[in-house]
Amino acid sequence: MSETTFNIVVLGGDGIGPEVMDETVRLLSSLESHLDRVSFQFDEHDVGVGQYLKSGNALPDSAFAACRRCDAVLLGAMGLPNVRYPDGKEIAPQLDLREQLGLYGGVRPIQLFHENDTPLKGYGSGEIDFVLVRESTEGLFAGRESILDPDANEATNILKITREGAERVCRLAFELARERGKEKKVSLIDKANVLSSMVFFRKIFDEVAESFPDITADHVYVDATALFLVRNPQQFDVMVTENMFGDILSDLAAGLVGGMGMAPSGDIGADAAVFQPSHGSAPDIAGKGIANPIAMILSSAMMLDWLRHPQTIQAAKAIREGLTEVLSDPFSRTADMGGKMSTSEMAGAIEAAAVRILSSKQAVV
Ligand code: NAD
Repeated sequence: MSETTFNIVVLGGDGIGPEVMDETVRLLSSLESHLDRVSFQFDEHDVGVGQYLKSGNALPDSAFAACRRCDAVLLGAMGLPNVRYPDGKEIAPQLDLREQLGLYGGVRPIQLFHENDTPLKGYGSGEIDFVLVRESTEGLFAGRESILDPDANEATNILKITREGAERVCRLAFELARERGKEKKVSLIDKANVLSSMVFFRKIFDEVAESFPDITADHVYVDATALFLVRNPQQFDVMVTENMFGDILSDLAAGLVGGMGMAPSGDIGADAAVFQPSHGSAPDIAGKGIANPIAMILSSAMMLDWLRHPQTIQAAKAIREGLTEVLSDPFSRTADMGGKMSTSEMAGAIEAAAVRILSSKQAVV
């Protein structure tokens, strides 16, 4: 059998982005040596605020071209609150990437690994387990190009839902529910009691649902969803929603399983994908070596699944099993989750467990 090489673009970005990225690339390199005829070629690019301050362009053409050509992109985080364009908005090249590569589906799995990590009472390992799918190319973010007139007495942003945009993200959510095979349920999170754009989104969701008769489809208003997530997260399997609702709910959801350091994501398009933690650059802890690398590492496991090679799928499984093993000891935690481990200690522990699990499985095969 011939060797398969996956070309992975690596964008560390800003703040804690490069810190969690370095650990993740190290872990992937360790796993690579236990894979059979599969290798990774990492192609690193300097992007984000640091690049913007140097060159005036946060996402240089060469980096963007590499993202177009590669098999998958790993991204840390980009943006810093105190560095802004002249119009007052933050530098956010991750949004440009999503729009330009057509990464319409922000897939955000939420999973509880240990009962100590949730603020909710009575939930054990695996008992909070759902996926939030955030539409990532339109919605309320469609208005982000508008510039505020400094003399204006009002400001308006539009919420844009297109048939194509809604159809493809709803389809992705239903396919995911089928693949998960759990409850086989998709909940549309909307505000169809107030906004015509949401009435339209619901109509398209219902049309798509008809082609998935094996999956239960329901609708939940976004405000009620905030309540239900805290009161009974088990009622959700896969939820799908517009861009801004998804942005907000994914932080709430992360809070149910340990915080932003536990929330991975994959931005999926028809022929490209970017895998990054749901968190930002966390400038309050950057440079201290204490950032939680788990969200970034779990995002890389999502990438390994997405590459759809039996060997990379095996490696993704080893990462998740290794992580479960590490987190079964309630003292193995970084500071954000009440522990004392540094970024590299946590990543090293997951790496050691994942490599051991992978190599024992490969030996059996
Ligand atoms: P944030 O996610 O960076 O931080 C929120 C809180 O969570 C902070 O207290 C932070 O310390 C903590 N946190 C986040 N990730 C953590 C980790 N891995 N380990 C431990 N603690 C962690 O959100 P913010 O403060 O709103 O944003 C900071 C910057 O990041 C802003 O400039 C924002 O625009 C940018 N941002 C970028 C992305 C992205 O690149 N995709 C996403 C969100 C925010």
